[in-house]
Amino acid sequence: MSNYQEAISFIKESFGTNDFIPLHVPHFGGNEKKYLADTIDTTFVSSVGAYVDQFEAMMASLTTTKKAVAVVNGTAGIQIALKLSGVKSGDEVLTQALTFVATANAIAYNNAHPVFIDVDLDTMGLSPKAVEAFLTEFGELRSDGCYNKKSGRRIAACVPMHTFGFPVHLDKLLEVCAQWNIPVIEDAAESLGSEYKGRQTGSFGQSGVFSFNGNKIVTCGGGGAIVTNDIKLGEKGKYLTTTAKIPHPYEYVHDELGYNYRMPNLNAALACAQLEQLDAFLQNKRVLAAEYKTFFESKGIHFRTETPDTKANYWLMCVELEDKKERDLFLKYTNESAVMTRPIWQLMFRLPMYRDCQKDSQEHALFLEERIVNIPSSVR
Ligand SMILES: *Cc1c(COP(=O)(O)O)cnc(C)c1O
Repeated sequence: MSNYQEAISFIKESFGTNDFIPLHVPHFGGNEKKYLADTIDTTFVSSVGAYVDQFEAMMASLTTTKKAVAVVNGTAGIQIALKLSGVKSGDEVLTQALTFVATANAIAYNNAHPVFIDVDLDTMGLSPKAVEAFLTEFGELRSDGCYNKKSGRRIAACVPMHTFGFPVHLDKLLEVCAQWNIPVIEDAAESLGSEYKGRQTGSFGQSGVFSFNGNKIVTCGGGGAIVTNDIKLGEKGKYLTTTAKIPHPYEYVHDELGYNYRMPNLNAALACAQLEQLDAFLQNKRVLAAEYKTFFESKGIHFRTETPDTKANYWLMCVELEDKKERDLFLKYTNESAVMTRPIWQLMFRLPMYRDCQKDSQEHALFLEERIVNIPSSVR
């Protein structure tokens, strides 16, 4: 309790204010106004424009992938990435229950069924060991893919999520999924700028998806991006998210059910200006993370840090409290003192629409659900 009062003082000092301190707010310190004014001056505010192309080029370059597709938000990006990987109605998709609801929703939008696999304690992301154990028990390899012996359904994809920007154990996960012929789609919505063995998250799976929502490390109001090294897949993604239109000088020709999931040029302009500052944001947040680590360690509170072989973007920083009682006290004192903190998400299988989904023991997810709390993490 007295530790918590000290924590509150420390956070207020860190952010240099006695006013309300939010969890994460955008930082606009670059070319945002200039690029936005440019979209208005040129009248290109909508779904075509130079900033959309520039944003896609910047995302491909940042992630060293061959193709990036700008989309209206991260959720839509995951939905389409899953569709591109061949997920069909009635299929199953392996993912973690410890995630933001969008991961599971994007699976459900494809009329597919999420299957919830446990996370690792160190990364808080999908556990390759748990995936392997699940597949060993329930998986059956057939000529057209992996099937779940319990449900009889095809397991069409696997979606790991890099929780708060901490990369999952990618090498082992990719190995297990390849063994079972299951494509990996990375939900990298929270991990823009995070690295695993020197390479950007999102670039490891068949595709990876980022979000540029207002609360993410880089924002464009609302937006998303799919990145992939499979150029054909990327081109198909661009086509599907832009109403499935066949190029023609003047006629409207659409030859399959497409989606209007385009990112407007207005948003892309903001995204370009923000991406220019990503390196500075990453550095800025690392300084705060280091200060938090020193402080919380001295108080006997576990501040979550990146695992070996990875570089986290420290998007939302977090502490791990002793138990649920301590967590609730910490949440109460901080929020009452105008320091915003929030518990990690409720596990997906608690939500009415995912109540009946198959899941494993969830041992680590249950442990973390009761203990992890996000603390103010904005760029200062
Ligand atoms: C933010 C987020 C998304 C979705 O992003 P939107 O752009 O808000 O649709 C998906 N998955 C996770 C884990 C997220 O945190």
